[in-house]
Amino acid sequence: MRKYFTILALIILILPSCGKREKDVSAKMITPVKFSEVKINDSFWTPRLKSHKDVTLNVCIDQIENQTGRIRNFEKAAEKLVGQHEGKVYDDSDVYKALEGMAYSLQNNPDPVLEAKCDEWIDKFAAAQEENGYLNTAFTLAENDDRWTRMDAHEMYCAGHMIEAGVAYYNVTGKRKLLDVCVRMADHMMTVFGPGKRDWVPGHEEIELALVKLYQATGEKKYLDFSEWLLNERGHGLGGNGVPLKRWNDAYHQDDKPVREMSEIAGHAVRAMYLYCGMADVAAYTHDQGYIDALNRLWDDVVLRNMYLTGGIGQSRSNEGFTEDYDLPNLTAYCETCASVGMVYWNWRMNQFTGDSKFADVMERSMYNGALAGISLDGSVFFYVNPLESLGEHHRKPWYGTACCPSQICRFLPSIGNYIYGVSDNAIWVNLYMGNSADIKVGNKEVTLTQETKYPWEGAVSLKVGVKGSLKTQIRLRVPGWCDEYTVAVNGDPVVPQVEKGYVVIDRKWKDGDIIGLNMDMPVKVVAADPRVKEDVGKRAIQRGPLVYCIEEADNKDGFDALRIAEDAKFDTTFDSGKLGGIVDITAHVGDQTLDYIPYYSWDNREAGKMKVWVPLVGEE
Ligand SMILES: [Zn+2]
Repeated sequence: MRKYFTILALIILILPSCGKREKDVSAKMITPVKFSEVKINDSFWTPRLKSHKDVTLNVCIDQIENQTGRIRNFEKAAEKLVGQHEGKVYDDSDVYKALEGMAYSLQNNPDPVLEAKCDEWIDKFAAAQEENGYLNTAFTLAENDDRWTRMDAHEMYCAGHMIEAGVAYYNVTGKRKLLDVCVRMADHMMTVFGPGKRDWVPGHEEIELALVKLYQATGEKKYLDFSEWLLNERGHGLGGNGVPLKRWNDAYHQDDKPVREMSEIAGHAVRAMYLYCGMADVAAYTHDQGYIDALNRLWDDVVLRNMYLTGGIGQSRSNEGFTEDYDLPNLTAYCETCASVGMVYWNWRMNQFTGDSKFADVMERSMYNGALAGISLDGSVFFYVNPLESLGEHHRKPWYGTACCPSQICRFLPSIGNYIYGVSDNAIWVNLYMGNSADIKVGNKEVTLTQETKYPWEGAVSLKVGVKGSLKTQIRLRVPGWCDEYTVAVNGDPVVPQVEKGYVVIDRKWKDGDIIGLNMDMPVKVVAADPRVKEDVGKRAIQRGPLVYCIEEADNKDGFDALRIAEDAKFDTTFDSGKLGGIVDITAHVGDQTLDYIPYYSWDNREAGKMKVWVPLVGEE
């Protein structure tokens, strides 16, 4: 870990000079290849996608329709049954996020029954929308309707999730009904707030990135402008809107300073992630260097001083967020699943500005560890909190009173194809390694890339090029930050790697059937934390490839608390197809002790027991 941090600290981010300022030229050099163009066929991810489709979606639908009042709230709002709202003020957002997941699932697996369910929900949203475009069941049904007075009442947060769902469903099905509901709500917000109207700071960010999606879907630039206006409202003392906040300070809502001046992550972790995503999305169009500089400063602060080995962030339960630099407790780590997914969303965007693999490294770390731990192997239960140590009492649940994490995983998993490839003027970027076939447009040429690999268990990747005639382009392969030794070959002939910002660049005229072979050594690594992390002094963790490992009592029944690791431990690795859905199991030999390690994401899928990522060294208490 120390080495990892040192390497990151040494990388100086050089932004390309933005000579072009035309409005339609993105400040981002890389355009992601959408998941709709990527068919995943992978021994690691395909079973997860299958359980998402067969189990997770049904769990979410059942919770939303039957176990809680979430859908009933829309039915009641349509009938103006004032006083009868059930649940929390932000519960609408879970319905929208589940719908977004259903839309992505329909893209991967067309299903008329599921599509009919989506249409049924959308009809209920539309019926609940008020004449003036306002839509939020908690306020429509409130006895004392104090809409648009409390920054922390999540009205724009819910609207943002509705917009993300509306855009997703429109993109997948071409059906406009929900998109039109979203447009009416966005237009309503813009009649109340904006330049020359009322000031406003949404207490939970989300609307900012959603408005950029609405701009992309409709071509209406006013939504981009409104998003930028909302971002620039922050940090001027406007957030309370005259109503004093009882519980939280301005930093909690990222409202303590203007966004261009931010350098340190503070407050609520998920809100911070959505803010940074919104800033990146707006800056892509406005080329606002002040935003981009702030995001790079914030990235250093998050990744070098406030991130767990699992890619999780937000150490404190009390504010669901940050405390002090290097304060990274394991047992009480909060690491909300949504924050890890947020790290994927944000780092994906940052990578697109510059093509620097350090962002994709963090994206991969958060995805395979902090985020993936948020759902059980069978897809039926979820973690909200993801500690790096447990005394045996922390377990996944099918739902939560605040259900942001189940609905987050519901929309994240079916769209993971988004994070594999990108395209720039003269290059295809390969960021993640998983079995898939992708149709990619480079310039005016179509190319199909077919990836075969047993990643993350093995480091061998084969990438086959399918093209009519020939294609002159770079293919850029990310060399993961964890990888020290690798070889590259084209059609079996070794290539001397030219590396730029962590990518091997292969520039040639490709012909149909060309095969790139990437072979990454994937040894077990013993990692140390930054010595300023007091909690991890005298401890080591195990990582192999992108996966962080842990010990769980189920495999280490005798003397769990007495187990110790050593820098020079000997490791056996075995692929066990029958264990935890198929994993590479690691056995560490330390003197006469053996420690059985499993991937962190797979813990708490068997009988309850203790778990630890950071294990004391021999001789430590
Ligand atoms: Zn959450």
